[in-house]
Amino acid sequence: MILKRGLPMIDGTIVKGIGGFYYVNTGDKIYECKARGKFRKEKITPLVGDCVKITVDGLSGQGVIEEILDRKTELIRPPVANVDHAVVVFAVHQPEPNLSLLNRFLILAESQEIDITICLNKMDLAQHEDLCSLTDIYRRIGYEVIMTSTKQNIGIEDLKGRLENRITVFAGPSGVGKSSLLNSIQPNLKLQTGEVSQKIERGKHTTRHVELLALDFGGWVLDTPGFSSLHLDFIEADGLQYLFREFHDFIGTCKFNGCKHLSEPGCAIKKALENHQIYPSRYESYTQLYEEIMQSRRY
Ligand code: GDP
Ligand code: ZN
Repeated sequence: MILKRGLPMIDGTIVKGIGGFYYVNTGDKIYECKARGKFRKEKITPLVGDCVKITVDGLSGQGVIEEILDRKTELIRPPVANVDHAVVVFAVHQPEPNLSLLNRFLILAESQEIDITICLNKMDLAQHEDLCSLTDIYRRIGYEVIMTSTKQNIGIEDLKGRLENRITVFAGPSGVGKSSLLNSIQPNLKLQTGEVSQKIERGKHTTRHVELLALDFGGWVLDTPGFSSLHLDFIEADGLQYLFREFHDFIGTCKFNGCKHLSEPGCAIKKALENHQIYPSRYESYTQLYEEIMQSRRY
């Protein structure tokens, strides 16, 4: 324990920030803290998820953030530090899985260089033929895919295991069961679930703050869906290919240096597509996203 101005430094994690106050969880308590002025001078804004050292005034109980430890990762939307895991959630039905959207969520997660789990929820609605294709495609690419149902309590323990001792964001379209999954994992989180329209209605009247929720078994989850915006404009067109894991084996073996894998002759990615080593839906997502990124650069 280091002493500074006579006060002991306590380790904690910022779980919420509102109007210049930061709420720091130190394991046994949450302290309301101000940040030292030096951070503003250094142009550092404390973020939810930051590991910090604080001092606490014995009389007022008010805390001060003295130090912010180096960040492992930094998400922009939502603004959170040290997220190291994304669970990308999809439903078997209701809503029907949309591969183009799933790929978009995956590429966003890949661009943040965090661990990824795909969670296929609403397994209770699955017909036999639904089970294979989606999980197969993504497992072959190398993703961890778990299957869950909050209605039948399937796969919840698997999911818990993946959340232990890390900071996780849940991402995926609305209505797939993200909040329900979190409530199944830990009922006292009491997240709102239900119809999209109802949630939007409720959301209108409350200001949303990003908040980290502590898991009883160790670890944190974000209370808002990850990647609140699905814009990919911060990704460089040339870098996009690397965010498709199954492309890695082929990149660099194309005939032309700097091949964009669109219509160049001797393209190893297109060859792999013809040889069924790359799924058509994934290649299609690549060309769509590439085009979109190029469009956004034109303005
Ligand atoms: P979110 O928008 O992704 O957070 O989704 P919610 O958790 O609010 O769930 C949307 C709807 O799907 C709600 O009506 C839930 O009751 C329902 N739901 C959630 N999980 C399951 C599941 O495993 N099976 C079925 N059949 N419905 C589910
Ligand atoms: Zn190529």
